[in-house]
Amino acid sequence: MKTQISFEVYPPRNPDSAPALYEAIDELSKLDPAFISVTFGAGGSESKNSLEVLNYINNKTHTIPLAHLTCVGSTSAQAAGLVSEFLDADIHNFLALRGDLPAGIAELPEESLSSAAELVSLIRSVRKERGLTAVAAFPNGHPESGENRSDIAALLAKQEAGADFAITQLFFYAADYFNFVDQARSWGVRIPIIPGIMPITSAKRLARVLELTGERDPFELRKNLELAHDLSARTEAGISWAANLIAELVEGGVPGVHLYAFNEYKNVTEVLRRAGVI
Ligand code: FAD
Repeated sequence: MKTQISFEVYPPRNPDSAPALYEAIDELSKLDPAFISVTFGAGGSESKNSLEVLNYINNKTHTIPLAHLTCVGSTSAQAAGLVSEFLDADIHNFLALRGDLPAGIAELPEESLSSAAELVSLIRSVRKERGLTAVAAFPNGHPESGENRSDIAALLAKQEAGADFAITQLFFYAADYFNFVDQARSWGVRIPIIPGIMPITSAKRLARVLELTGERDPFELRKNLELAHDLSARTEAGISWAANLIAELVEGGVPGVHLYAFNEYKNVTEVLRRAGVI
């Protein structure tokens, strides 16, 4: 059976990078993904930019757009207004996230929503039409969840609030995903958990990603990237790591694979081709 694929892109950081993003969306759409998701800046700073990209996917391709939304720092009324803005633009599928407070702000503003589960409930109360609600999951734990794995309690709360499926944070070893799914199932999580995979083709990007996510260092991948002597060798190292990971995940049985596409299509297409998924 064909493995479901999906992609994540982010709004262009400046007008110069927009054409490459739209070309990537056109090319990724040809691979017949279940959806393309578009990230959302903290504090709503990018809602217009996200909407522009989501509208492009909706109007210019046959692919379903899925809008990331964050809620931390917003009151219930503000978040409901945001959801309505997206619904009015004909965007009905969401990835509901808590998000993070901007650097330097330690405390939640009064009356702010404080968890993704609250946003899941709010989306379900505002949306009258049919639509899907995805949520985030963290195979190796969210940075705020300690040994007691409060991220799994949070995932359970998101499921109870009405989430349809989860997409994971990136990870580097298939065993991390499968162990997590087993643990989540033993806690009562029943929704599909789609693994999120990021092909990483430079040691600098790997270092940045580890810093942002708190993931443990994938020693072999880092060495391969560091020892690669030129761009094509680094690209090869990153592509082959991601392709092997996906092949192992598909072999073990996954409900789909979600690729963090970094607004380009050549590497992710090659990863999927080598993994035997397209
Ligand atoms: P929540 O699920 O609300 O939980 C955060 C943590 O709080 C939990 O892990 C847990 O430790 C604790 N917690 C919450 N509820 C409970 C509970 N009921 N019981 C016990 N503990 C609880 N960020 C952006 O700003 N924009 C994006 O577009 C974006 N896209 C993302 C896409 C994916 C696939 C992923 C995995 C992450 C993305 N993020 C994005 C990052 C995300 O916003 C951060 O990881 C944020 O810190 C947590 O969001 P969350 O939705 O997991 O929060």
